[in-house]
Amino acid sequence: MSIPFNRPYITGKELENIMQAHRNGRLAGDGQFTKDCETWLETATGCHRAMLTNSCTAALEMSALLLDVQASDEIIMPSYTFVSTANAFVLRGAIPVFVDIRNDTLNLDERLIEAAITDKTKVIVVVHYAGVACEMDAILAIAKRHGLRVIEDAAQGIMASYKGRPLGSIGDMGTLSFHETKNIHCGEGGALLINTPGYRQLAEIIREKGTDRSRFYRGEVDKYTWQSVGSSYLPGELLAAFLYEQMQSAQAITDMRLTVWERYHAALEPLESQGKLRRPIIPAECAHNAHMYYILLNDESTRDRTMAKLKAAGIMSVIHYVPLHSAPAGKRFGRAHGALAVTEDISSRILRLPLWVGISGESQELIAAKLAAIL
Ligand SMILES: *Cc1c(COP(=O)(O)O)cnc(C)c1O
Repeated sequence: MSIPFNRPYITGKELENIMQAHRNGRLAGDGQFTKDCETWLETATGCHRAMLTNSCTAALEMSALLLDVQASDEIIMPSYTFVSTANAFVLRGAIPVFVDIRNDTLNLDERLIEAAITDKTKVIVVVHYAGVACEMDAILAIAKRHGLRVIEDAAQGIMASYKGRPLGSIGDMGTLSFHETKNIHCGEGGALLINTPGYRQLAEIIREKGTDRSRFYRGEVDKYTWQSVGSSYLPGELLAAFLYEQMQSAQAITDMRLTVWERYHAALEPLESQGKLRRPIIPAECAHNAHMYYILLNDESTRDRTMAKLKAAGIMSVIHYVPLHSAPAGKRFGRAHGALAVTEDISSRILRLPLWVGISGESQELIAAKLAAIL
């Protein structure tokens, strides 16, 4: 028997939508399913305007273009994140400034941000790790004091919230991922959430190769032309059709994932009491979405040994980010603010357990029993 780390969920009705998109006779982007997905996102998050993109990476690149990030601008972000958080800004010649994370939520430590701000700082990019929100009130207050923009990398954050506010709808902009490893997906996909009016027209132009094709389609201009710098960030209708079906099931998917998450949390409580591992900490103001279940082992060798022994038993667990400041490109393009001791410590001890819709309670009990035996 083998338990995979992830198994992308399919509701079973995605193909009906794809056939409908085919019948609609329009397979490029910005058709009916694209609009349906965007309307769903605007309703679900309360953002000013949602735009589907090819990926969260594409949405981050769009946000850098929209905020007119320039060469040598400094962008504050965690080092403990996916490469795209940094790459989107490095593509514009900007400099990622890596700030350490909190030991409890593994999110950017808001208490360290202010000391990292210089007169070159332009943007703070926060990452809501595992669908658990950053301390957004404190971060927004810092941004306001220093005239900075806030982008939420909410790749893992669909259906999660902070003080009742959906993730991605709190900063100036938010980015979501619909990659198959995320809670709701279309294989590869993403969205940009714009929360301040005034960016919509430029965002449409940037997404459509720098042209005003979106206005042309709406009949607002009689031809479309090159208006601005831009790229190809608009997904086709087949992906939107697939994604729209997933969106219909977003609450059910979240509920099923939360059930799995809670089962791990209960089963691993004794091991935490015995000091063998630490379970995730969810602050009271955060409603999370069960994107991930991770454990923190006591040291790196215990983590590596645990992962190897689980694998030998057919259970696939995985580590997470190699801190960006310690990676070759991170050293070349970025700068660490301070020692980043928590980032390095956490990344050496974290282990993520299999979490997907449909994993059985028995499998989870087996995993908990194996962990008890190993530790
Ligand atoms: C998954 C992820 C991304 C990238 O998402 P894509 O849709 O694959 O581009 C970016 N940031 C974080 C924090 C992620 O988890």
